[in-house]
Amino acid sequence: MILKEIIFLVVLVAAVNADYVSYKNYKVYKIVPKNENEVQILLDLRKQPQYYFWNDIVSLYSDVKIMVAPKNQEEFENYFKSINIPAEVVFNDVQKLIDDQVKRPVRRNVVYDWTYYLTLDEINAWLTRIVEEHSDVATLVNLGTSVEGRTIWGVKIDYKKEENPVIGMIEGGIHSREWISPATVTYIINEFLTSTDENVRFMAENIVWHIFPVVNPDGYYYTFNNNRMWRKNRGKDNFTPCANVADDISNGIDLNRNFGFVWMLTGASQNPCAETYAGPSEFSEPESRAISNYVLYIKNQGRMIYYFAFHSYSQMVLVPYSHLSGYDVINAPNYADMYEIAIRGMDKLKAKHNTDYQVGTSGDILYEVSGSSFDWVKGVAEIPIVYLFELRDVGEFGFLLPAERIIPNNEEIMAGLLEMERVTRNMGYYNIQNESEPATLPTTVEPSTTAAPGSGMKTVFSVFLIALCLFVTL
Ligand SMILES: [Zn+2]
Repeated sequence: MILKEIIFLVVLVAAVNADYVSYKNYKVYKIVPKNENEVQILLDLRKQPQYYFWNDIVSLYSDVKIMVAPKNQEEFENYFKSINIPAEVVFNDVQKLIDDQVKRPVRRNVVYDWTYYLTLDEINAWLTRIVEEHSDVATLVNLGTSVEGRTIWGVKIDYKKEENPVIGMIEGGIHSREWISPATVTYIINEFLTSTDENVRFMAENIVWHIFPVVNPDGYYYTFNNNRMWRKNRGKDNFTPCANVADDISNGIDLNRNFGFVWMLTGASQNPCAETYAGPSEFSEPESRAISNYVLYIKNQGRMIYYFAFHSYSQMVLVPYSHLSGYDVINAPNYADMYEIAIRGMDKLKAKHNTDYQVGTSGDILYEVSGSSFDWVKGVAEIPIVYLFELRDVGEFGFLLPAERIIPNNEEIMAGLLEMERVTRNMGYYNIQNESEPATLPTTVEPSTTAAPGSGMKTVFSVFLIALCLFVTL
C-alpha cells in the first residue's frame, strides 16, 4: 500500500513537471556592437528564433544580451570567433537565476517581507489576510475571471467613505514574466494599509484606491509552473503551429495589445506565434474586458484621477499615447502636465537609491505600440493622470531581477509616487489640503495642453527596432 502511494506520488510529480521548460545551462552572452556593420550582424542574428535577445533595441555601443540553449552554444561561440566579435558569457545558467528568485526562508509561517517572489496562491492568500487585518478600510474585490477560470483578486482601500472621492487604480502583472510588477503592487497595498509615514498616510487616506497585483493570473501561474519567460495570457482559441519555435507560444494573447483604443495600429501582431499577438479582435480576452469594465464602473463613483500600470524592465515612466512620438505627443490631452509630474516624481525616486528613470511616450523612448491598457484608460475612459512604469533594471538581469532588489525598487517607486501625487494636487487636479505641507498655489489651474520643454525630443542616437521581438517589455 505504502509502496503504491510512493509510486503514485513519483508519477504525479513527473506528470506535473513534464511541461516545465527548464533553462538549465542556458547561457547569456553580452555583445557590444562597435560599428553599423556589427549592429546589422546582430539584427540578422535576431531573425533566428533559437537566439533569444534580452534587448528590445540593438544600438551602437550598448550591451546586447543573447540567451542561448546548451545545444546551440558551440555554433554561437564559433560564429562570433570567426567574425572576431567578442561574446562574453555573463550568465552561465539561467535556471539558477530563476531558482534564486523563488528561494524562500526556511522558517515556516513567516510574514511576507518582499525578500522573494510570491506564487499566485501566495499573493491571493496574502491579500485575503491583509484585507482581514484592515477590514475597516479594505475590502477584497473581484475584477473578473481569467480564460482558465481564475478570479482576478484585488483590494479597494477607502478610509473616509466620502461622497464623490478622488479615485485611483493600480494594475500589476498584465505581463506574467515581469515578476517585479506584482511584487511592487503588493508593496504599495501594504504601505497604504500599514505605513506610519505621514505622506504615505495622506496619499492612502485621501484617495480611494482600487489595486490589482496580478491581472493576468493564468500567465503568472504559468511562469511558476511551466515557462518562466511567458508573457501573454493563456487563451488557446488561436492555436497554430509556429515554425522554428514551440507551438505553445500561440496559446496566448498579449493583453497589453488587446484594448480597444487604436487597436492594431502599430507595434502589435496578428500572428498568434508572436509575443505581441493582439488577439483576433479588440477586447477578445476576458482579462482586458474585465479591466476596462471595472474602470468605467469606478469612474462613476467619484473623480477618477489616476491609473498606474506596472511592468518591467527599462526604468521608464511612459506617458500616453504609445503610438505617438516627436511633436505629435501633445495630441494626448494634458500631456505637458503628465510629463512634468513624472519628471518631478523621478527626481524624488532618484534621490532614494540613485536610480535613473527616463520619461516620455513609448514611441519616443522605447518603441511605438497600440492597444495597451493605459492608453485605453487615457483615450477612451479619459482619466487625466495615467502612466505605465517600466521598473528595474535596464537589462542586467531583465525579467530575472534578483529578489534582493525588490525592496530598493519598491522604496524608490513609493518615493516617486508620493511626489507625483503632491505635484498633481498642486497643479489643481483636485483639492485636498495636506496639513503637513506648506500651502502652495496651484501652478496650473486648468490642465494644460502645451508641450513641455524637450518633450518632443527624439532620441539623438540611432536606434533600430524590430517589430517582432522576443523580449518586449511594454
Ligand atoms: Zn510588460
